Amino acid sequence: MRMIKNVRRKPVTKMERYLKYGFVITEHEYHYCPRCNHILNAGPNYQPGYCDQCGQKLNFSKIQWNEDKELGFAKRGDAYESV
Ligand SMILES: [Zn+2]
Repeated sequence: MRMIKNVRRKPVTKMERYLKYGFVITEHEYHYCPRCNHILNAGPNYQPGYCDQCGQKLNFSKIQWNEDKELGFAKRGDAYESV
C-alpha cells in the first residue's frame, strides 16, 4: 500500500477566538494537520513542509492568510480562554 502521508495535503484551517492581552476578543486563523489534527504553527512567514507530529507532507500553496481580527473587548465573566 502506498504511504498516503507522502502526498502533499492542504492543512485544515479554522477560525478560532482567543483573548488577546486577557480582554481583546480576537479571531485568529489556526492551521491543523489534515492527518493527525496537530496544530501547525504556520503563518505567512513560516510554512512547515510537513507535520512535526506524524510526518504528513503539507501544501500551503492554496492557503490564504488572513490577519487577526479584533472583535471588541470582553466583559467580565465572558467565557473565553485566555492565551
Ligand atoms: Zn500530523
